[in-house]
Amino acid sequence: MDSKNLFKKAAELIKSSQKTMVLTGAGISTESGIPDFRSPGTGLWENMDPTEVLSTKVLFNSPEEFYRVGFKILSSMRNAEPNEAHYILSEMEKEGIIAGVITQNIDNLHQKAGSKKVYEVHGNTREGSCLRCGEKVSFELLEEKVAKEEIPPRCDRCGGMLRPDVVLFGDPMPHAFDLALKEVQESDLLIVIGSSLVVAPVNFLPGMVDGLIIINATETPYDYKADVVIREKASYALRNIWNLIKS
Ligand code: NAD
Repeated sequence: MDSKNLFKKAAELIKSSQKTMVLTGAGISTESGIPDFRSPGTGLWENMDPTEVLSTKVLFNSPEEFYRVGFKILSSMRNAEPNEAHYILSEMEKEGIIAGVITQNIDNLHQKAGSKKVYEVHGNTREGSCLRCGEKVSFELLEEKVAKEEIPPRCDRCGGMLRPDVVLFGDPMPHAFDLALKEVQESDLLIVIGSSLVVAPVNFLPGMVDGLIIINATETPYDYKADVVIREKASYALRNIWNLIKS
């Protein structure tokens, strides 16, 4: 089937669905200039192993390395702006076409684009917390301390080590994941956008729903199960699908 017909089929599935949730990954933000992990040639994986530098193992055993390498990656995502794909999802939510977005991303771009119901299942880069007393701090404070070479940054209240509220490899999943799971179980359609679907347990979600649309530049392990697989850029695919839904 050519792309035009795939867009048409996707638009029809979305229009006839009672409840549609969207699952996004790093691929939706590459058009905002944030590299993903696994795109050939440009993904962060080309230069490093993110499962190492962004892991609890490194945070706890070599905090200096975590703050000099992994933390920089997190910090670099914070100045990006949403792209057309983020804005279309926000419009779709406003129009009642989708029920919400589950994102593996930590770049805040869905919220910046106006999406209201966003489940951040891998945490966020807005806040941090103290590993000893649990005190919440802003991500900016972590950045200020690191810029002043306070590495690792320490809690002003108790002196414990501060960490970003991002789910690192080795961390348990947050409560947002339980809520996301429930949303998917209640849905009849899931649209996956820009995820390689290799990171567990988020990649269990496509297996829990009847209807599945995958929009991803490269193959995923769930393509066999999907009603529609679109191998195009997220913004181009969503623009076409959204125009068909509105027409
Ligand atoms: P991934 O890197 O494993 O996969 C991204 C997928 O998106 C790839 O299969 C790639 O082919 C596809 N892709 C890239 N650009 C695309 C585009 N314009 N349109 C459509 N598809 C595109 O990412 P993942 O599955 O999200 O898992 C990696 C983990 O790392 C997640 O936890 C993720 O949140 C995190 N991460 C987040 C960010 C971010 O917040 N922006 C960036 C890098 C990594």
